[in-house]
Amino acid sequence: MPCEYLNFIGGRWVPGSTQRTFPNINPANTDDVVGAFQASGPDDVAAAFAAAEKAQPAWAALPAPRRGEYLFKAAEILESQLTAAATDMTREEGKTLPEATGEVKRAINILRYFGGEGSRQFSYQIPSERENVFCFTLRKPLGIVALITPWNFPSAIPAWKMAPALVAGNTVVIKPASLAPLSALRLVEALEKAGVPAGVINFVTGSGGAIGDAMLEHQSLKAVSFTGSCDVGNRLYDKATRRRLRVQLEMGGKNPTVVLADANLDLAAATLVNAAFFSTGQKCTATSRVIVEAPIVDRFTAALVEKTRALKVGNGLEAGIDIGPSIDDKQLGIVLDYVGVGGREGARLLCGGERLTDGPYARGYFSSPAVMTDVAPSMRVAQEEIFGPVLAVLPAENLDGAVEVANGIRFGLSAAICTRSLTAAYEFINRIDAGLVMVNLPSAGVEYHVPFGGSKASSMGMREQGGVAVDFYSEIQTAYIKY
Ligand code: NAP
Repeated sequence: MPCEYLNFIGGRWVPGSTQRTFPNINPANTDDVVGAFQASGPDDVAAAFAAAEKAQPAWAALPAPRRGEYLFKAAEILESQLTAAATDMTREEGKTLPEATGEVKRAINILRYFGGEGSRQFSYQIPSERENVFCFTLRKPLGIVALITPWNFPSAIPAWKMAPALVAGNTVVIKPASLAPLSALRLVEALEKAGVPAGVINFVTGSGGAIGDAMLEHQSLKAVSFTGSCDVGNRLYDKATRRRLRVQLEMGGKNPTVVLADANLDLAAATLVNAAFFSTGQKCTATSRVIVEAPIVDRFTAALVEKTRALKVGNGLEAGIDIGPSIDDKQLGIVLDYVGVGGREGARLLCGGERLTDGPYARGYFSSPAVMTDVAPSMRVAQEEIFGPVLAVLPAENLDGAVEVANGIRFGLSAAICTRSLTAAYEFINRIDAGLVMVNLPSAGVEYHVPFGGSKASSMGMREQGGVAVDFYSEIQTAYIKY
C-alpha cells in the first residue's frame, strides 16, 4: 500500500473532504507508486483560507527578522533530510538524483536568502522638501496569497514563492502540481517542524480543475502567484484581474541559443546538450531552438549530434544517467507527436525522437533525445513549446539574422549566445527580447538570489527570486512625519 499523504490546514495534517485520493506515480517505473494524495474539493480550500485568515494578523505583527528565523530553521531541517528529499523528487518527477539534489539545495538556499530578507531592505527614507518633515516607506503584507505551482521544479518553485510571501508577513494557501506534490509537502513539513504558527501555511492537494476556482474566488484572497502553462495561466489571469487581484504569472518558453562562427564549438555543443536535454528538456528555460551562423552549421551540428548520442537515458536513481523520463504518458505523447510534426513539415531528424521500451525502459516514459535540422522559423517545431528532449537547429546568415529568428516567437523567457566577441554579446543582450540572457552559458541554470522572469507571452507581473521577489508580496506605504 502506498503511503497516504494529507493536506496541511490550520497547523494539522488532515484528510480531504471528498475522502478520495489520487496516486503519485514514478515516471521511470510506473509500478512504483510514490504516494496517495488528497483529491481535495472546494470545502478543503475554504478551510485552508479560514485558517490563513485567522493566522494572518499575528503573523504580520511579528517583526520581520523573527519571521525570517523560521525560514532559517526550516532550511536547516530540510538540509538534514537532503538525500531523502532528493530521492523523493527523483521518484516523483524523474529528474536525475544529482539534479534533484541540486534542486533541494537550491530550495534550502532560497529559504536562507529570504530568511535574511527579514532583516534587509524593508523600507527607505526620502528627504522631504519641507522643513522638519521626515518621509519614509514601510512594507506591508498583502494578506492571504494563493500559490499554484508546476511539477517540473517541485521543490524550488514552491520555495521561491512561499519564502518571500511568508517573510513579507502574508499567510499562504499553496496547491502543488498533482503530478509531483511530494517535494512541496516536504518543504511544508520542514516549515511545520521549524515551528511556523498554525494557519500561516496551508497546503491543499487536488486537481487544478477541481479546486482552482475555489482558490481564485475566495473573498479573502489578495494575490495569486502561478507558474505553469500559458493556457492555464492566461485563464487564471482573466479571472483574477476581474477581481482586481494582484497576479504574477510565469509560463512557457521556446528559448533560443545563438551560436556564432567565432564560438568555441566544443564548448558550445556541450552547453547546448546541457541546456536542451538535462532534466529531459522539461525546464521552462531549456533551449529548444539553436540558431547557428551559416558557415559552421554542419560542423556544429555534427558535434552536437555526437554529444547527444552519448547521453545515457534511464532511471534517474541510478548512477551515470544523464536524462530521465518524460513526466507522464501525455507529455511523452506530445514529445513524440512533435517529432512527427517536424518530419511532416520538412525537418530532418538527425538522432533520437523514439520511444524507448526495452528492458529497463519498459515501465517508464522514456524517449531518446532528438536533434532536428532543416528547420524553418515558421515551422511549428520552431514556434511551439514542446517541453521535452527535442532540439531544432535553424541556420542564420549572421548575428542580425539570428536575432530576428530568435525574437520571432511569442515567448520571451530565456535566451543565450555562444561567441568570443564581446561586441556581439552586448549586441545580443541589447536586442534580444527575453527576461534572462546568458553568454557562453546554458539558457537554463539560473541562480536563486538573482531576479527571474520573462517577457512577452512567457510572463506577467513582477519578477520572482532575488530581493525584488518581496515586491510582489508586499505593498509600499509612505509615511510623512512633521516634527
Ligand atoms: P499546468 O498544467 O499549467 O499546471 C500548473 C499548475 O496549475 C498545477 O498546479 C495545476 O494543477 C494547476 N492548474 C491546472 N488547472 C488549473 C485551474 N483551472 N485553476 C487553477 N490551477 C490550475 O503546467 P504544468 O504542466 O504543471 O507545467 C509545465 C508548464 O509550466 C510549461 O509550460 C513550463 O514552461 C511552465 N513553467 C514555467 C516556468 C517559468 O518560470 N516561466 C517554470 C516552470 C514551468 P494540476 O497539476 O492539478 O493540473
